[in-house]
Amino acid sequence: MDLLWTDFLNSMWHDWRGSGRSEDRLEKPAWLERFTATWNLNAPLPLQPEELDALKKLRTLLGRMAENVVAGFLLHPDDLQQLNQAMARSPVTRQLVRTDGKYRLELVPLRQDWVHAMADIAASFALTLAEGDDGRIRICDNPHCRWVFIDSTRNRSKRFCDDKLCGNLMKVRRFRARKQSSDHAESGRGQKE
Ligand SMILES: [Zn+2]
Repeated sequence: MDLLWTDFLNSMWHDWRGSGRSEDRLEKPAWLERFTATWNLNAPLPLQPEELDALKKLRTLLGRMAENVVAGFLLHPDDLQQLNQAMARSPVTRQLVRTDGKYRLELVPLRQDWVHAMADIAASFALTLAEGDDGRIRICDNPHCRWVFIDSTRNRSKRFCDDKLCGNLMKVRRFRARKQSSDHAESGRGQKE
């Protein structure tokens, strides 16, 4: 399951096959178009250099916080403060609106730009913790992949971003490693006898 903040963190793409290649998709216009459209972010493109810079800083912060949560650590107070600052930079007002015969309370941003989009991204992460879903945050167990996702399985057992891709790849690697070490053991025995 993708959330705004996991989609954002995964803008730093690592080749899960282990080639060592990576790609910063915050620098790819097509990725940014898709990202802003998916999450209805009212933020102008192309990015200005200072906006790209701020987004990368926020990504580093959220990445560190997600890693801490996954490792079972408490969030560092400085990180918490920075997250709160990112949300505080874009104030919102409340507005009661009526559509299709129903009332809805909406949070209306006072600004519509990347500062507000970043507050939304930070708030999406904050909400995951506030709703008690911190135990569902995962970083793919394939060390080359590091894809961040929310485990929505009932028994919270999902270890890979994709069982067919990363899951199979790791299974094959574990099998080969086991075979190699047993082959070594075999040949070692052979020499001694
Ligand atoms: Zn993966």
